[in-house]
Amino acid sequence: MKAIHVSQAGGPEVLEYVDVPEPTPAPGQVLIETVGTGVNFIETYERSGVYNISYPAIVGTEGAGRVVALGDGVKNLAVGARVATAQGVSTYAEYFVADAAHVVAVPDGVSDVEAAALPLQGMTAHYLINSSYPVKEGDVVLTYAGAGGVGLLLTQLLKMKGATVITTASTPEKRELAKGAGADYVLEYDDIPGTVREITNGRGADVVYDGIGKDTFDGSLASLRRRGMLVLFGGASGQVPPVNLQRFNAAGSLFFTRPTLKDYLLDAEEVAWRGHELFSLVASGKLDVRIGGQYPLSDAKKAHHDLESRGATGKLVLVP
Ligand code: NDP
Repeated sequence: MKAIHVSQAGGPEVLEYVDVPEPTPAPGQVLIETVGTGVNFIETYERSGVYNISYPAIVGTEGAGRVVALGDGVKNLAVGARVATAQGVSTYAEYFVADAAHVVAVPDGVSDVEAAALPLQGMTAHYLINSSYPVKEGDVVLTYAGAGGVGLLLTQLLKMKGATVITTASTPEKRELAKGAGADYVLEYDDIPGTVREITNGRGADVVYDGIGKDTFDGSLASLRRRGMLVLFGGASGQVPPVNLQRFNAAGSLFFTRPTLKDYLLDAEEVAWRGHELFSLVASGKLDVRIGGQYPLSDAKKAHHDLESRGATGKLVLVP
């Protein structure tokens, strides 16, 4: 089969389109023929060496497709089932394996490309607002990159909960998209804390979901209300350097967490809860999954370049 192989850390140019053997499902796993692979920041961190992985590797954990073989002991899935996962193994490939407990059935009414686009960013938005800091009606939420993959989903899900959403975007086109998803305020990147204080009559946001990291961290702390919560979930601008914990005291007894998706998909039940809620919303037309670009699998380099250069909106998907 064809796959995207990384033999050393580097820029998008280290993503090589090569022939490799098809994987075999281990006990408890299924083999999936790929219809689409979601492109995520995590693969750029793995490719560039920000996250330690051992090379050579085929990156990717998100994908959708049809089950073509079952490992020993798999009872809950049949060959032919349409499935998607955020936790597959080496999904930048024509076939990949995943634990049966980590896959979600894809309902009718959800296209193949939507199925590939939704799991990782959708389940991230879902755990951020339901589990890291459970958002309540009336909460004021600051988040960033409102036209991005996580951002567009986050805003739509937050509005369903009755929150006020303040987000950011760097261009007029992106700000339009973020508004279209329901954001109440879409800011540029200057003086965010000042604007948040104005909007909240000086109080500050109840929670900040920050996936930008290095460039926004200080402003995130300065935008929170007393005893507010900073959820740092990524570093699109770079990782946040070590922080003096005293700052959380000085900024108003703040709470802080640095979560990652796998800790919020602990077992089959948690995967099914998040997955079924999200796919049902898409199937019923209540949640829009914006596909910002579809690329042939062989063009993974370009997809990574577009994601890292801030050129992308919504979700980028590789199609074998
Ligand atoms: P996006 O589609 O949101 O792309 C990133 C966006 O960040 C850009 O489009 C850009 O939007 C904004 N941005 C601001 N500053 C920079 C910068 N210096 N360089 C690049 N982008 C910048 O990506 P995703 O939705 O895939 O991911 C968003 C974040 O979520 C990432 O940090 C990712 O690591 C994180 N994540 C975390 C997970 C977790 O469980 N912890 C799981 C999944 C994703 P604009 O131009 O409008 O500013």
